[in-house]
Amino acid sequence: MSDAVPPPPLQIDRASGLLAGARQVLSPHFDARPAGVLPELLVVHGISLPPGEFGGPWIDRLFTGTLPVDAHPYFREIAGQRVSAHALIRRDGQIVQYVPFGERAWHAGQSAYRGRSACNDFSIGLELEGTDDTPYSDAQYQALVALTATLLVAYPSLTRQAIVGHSDVAPGRKTDPGFAFDWERFRTLLATTRR
Ligand SMILES: [Zn+2]
Repeated sequence: MSDAVPPPPLQIDRASGLLAGARQVLSPHFDARPAGVLPELLVVHGISLPPGEFGGPWIDRLFTGTLPVDAHPYFREIAGQRVSAHALIRRDGQIVQYVPFGERAWHAGQSAYRGRSACNDFSIGLELEGTDDTPYSDAQYQALVALTATLLVAYPSLTRQAIVGHSDVAPGRKTDPGFAFDWERFRTLLATTRR
């Protein structure tokens, strides 16, 4: 598989919604879920900034509202967007957390899952650093499976059946994580993961 260093075991503190073993870069772009609403859906995304470039600091900067618009022409197009995700998995498998899992991150936008709109209310958004047509790395699949398994334990309102791509809840508007994301590989790995 990968020659990356195995990640530390993941652990979510339910009180804070924070993931031990992740780098924390807390975003101001979140608010509370509606009263009584639990996370029931996992939404997988793909992102790169600038598009197609990996490894820079720009995703952190976007999600913390500090993207310098002069650093790249594309940044001017997305300037002022107040968006976030709960976590990002970088190409090397490193997990960065931006929003506590119990809170509402702003990742799905206008969206619907099985007729229920506003997916941010009841979902957890996980970003993979990548593009629609670049194969995601082995380390990313391993980290995504580990994180998903940890979330399923920490939040019993989540299920293995309710895991979708951004393109599934915002069809015609969003294409990520793209055809490069191997759902069968992910689901097979997840099915064989026990915690
Ligand atoms: Zn997305």
